[in-house]
Amino acid sequence: MKNYDVLVVGAGFAGATIARKRAEQGKKVLVVEKRAHIGGNMYECEGENGIRVHLYGPHIFHTNSERAFQFLKEFGEFFPYEHKVLGKIDGKLVPIPFNYTSLEMLFDKENAEKIKLKLKRNFPDVEKISILDLVKHNDVDIKEFGQYVYDKVFANYTAKQWGTTVDKIDTSVINRVPVVLGYDDRYFKDKFQYMPKEGFTKLFENILNHENIEVRLNMNVKDILKIDFEKKKTYINGEEFGGEIFYTGALDELMNYEYGNLPYRTLELKFENYPEEYYQENSVVNYPNEEEFTRITEFKYLTKQEDKEHTTILKEYPAQFDIHNPKYADPYYPINNDKNQEIYKKYQDKLASISNIKLCGRLAEYKYYNMDAVIDRALTLCE
Ligand SMILES: Cc1cc2nc3c(=O)[nH]c(=O)nc-3n(C[C@H](O)[C@H](O)[C@H](O)COP(=O)(O)OP(=O)(O)OC[C@H]3O[C@@H](n4cnc5c(N)ncnc54)[C@H](O)[C@@H]3O)c2cc1C
Repeated sequence: MKNYDVLVVGAGFAGATIARKRAEQGKKVLVVEKRAHIGGNMYECEGENGIRVHLYGPHIFHTNSERAFQFLKEFGEFFPYEHKVLGKIDGKLVPIPFNYTSLEMLFDKENAEKIKLKLKRNFPDVEKISILDLVKHNDVDIKEFGQYVYDKVFANYTAKQWGTTVDKIDTSVINRVPVVLGYDDRYFKDKFQYMPKEGFTKLFENILNHENIEVRLNMNVKDILKIDFEKKKTYINGEEFGGEIFYTGALDELMNYEYGNLPYRTLELKFENYPEEYYQENSVVNYPNEEEFTRITEFKYLTKQEDKEHTTILKEYPAQFDIHNPKYADPYYPINNDKNQEIYKKYQDKLASISNIKLCGRLAEYKYYNMDAVIDRALTLCE
């Protein structure tokens, strides 16, 4: 490592942003990535039918962070994209989050008008409301409406997603499920909603394309990095390395699972190709109830790729993460509870004695981050 000032582990948004910033500051940066490609979970590639897909699940860029968007815009062009989601409820495809259109599609006219009137009276000038506020309301019609949305949109979906019954889900999660009091059917309300014209992978290629950055793929940092906790020193390929190390992988893996595994939920992703222009009427359709999968994504809506004869969809089956089974070995969603936070903190405290290692990103911080938040966090770390 004599030729490098900085080691970055992982070429997802956390690692790529840090590598770029340090390179621009004149540092020689080595990026080590254990997968065969850059981009982390944002990786986008062409399938055998020529359709571009997000290999680790659909990713939509949306942010209120001017700084994160400004950073990205330097590395590619973007087109405006406002994401919309439909959900299959009682055999109909209705807007999700549930809004007045969903209400009108699923309730008879008289009932729908009555509920809308009551919602308007009880929540004047409110754009969206938590489902819990409806379920707990003392007006019987509002309460029943809230319960309907809770049962049909939230309960089974969440149980599938987290592999548990809904009563075990933290109320903070339930609190975040909104009902929109109006006709706005956009899934996100952020100020900036765009997708990269040439796809996410091209964006990563551009971010990492700098004379001070070298990327090595198919390399697990565990094979080259040793941490000596007694001497409080780090070694790369046997030689002491005192430069900065930014680690964006899983913390339990780095620390040899000394305090146990950090649990995750994962996804089994099943791609299907069809010889037709479109498979469904929208980019994402949620299946909260009867089906085993949670949603179907059709990528052409996200990439705006034109092809009248081919399309590719993705069905997502939530599953238990299992490091020993390659089918389930991708950590997707941290399972955030007190017990797991305690394990995480033990790792974090032990690593704090090694002053040149910094943690950044969804795995290293054991935290669900949207991509803009990861970019923001990486930019802050580099300042
Ligand atoms: C299904 C799903 C959908 C999502 N959709 C959205 C969305 O629509 N919009 C949005 O903003 N966000 C979305 N996100 C979140 C988004 O994926 C993350 O914010 C982003 O990927 C985080 O980047 P990262 O660099 O922290 O992690 P990652 O992208 O996971 O990158 C970490 C990299 O480190 C590498 N690595 C790990 N360990 C090692 C090691 N030991 N040695 C070498 N390399 C290693 C990994 O291979 C990986 O490439 C979604 C997440 C999921 C799970």
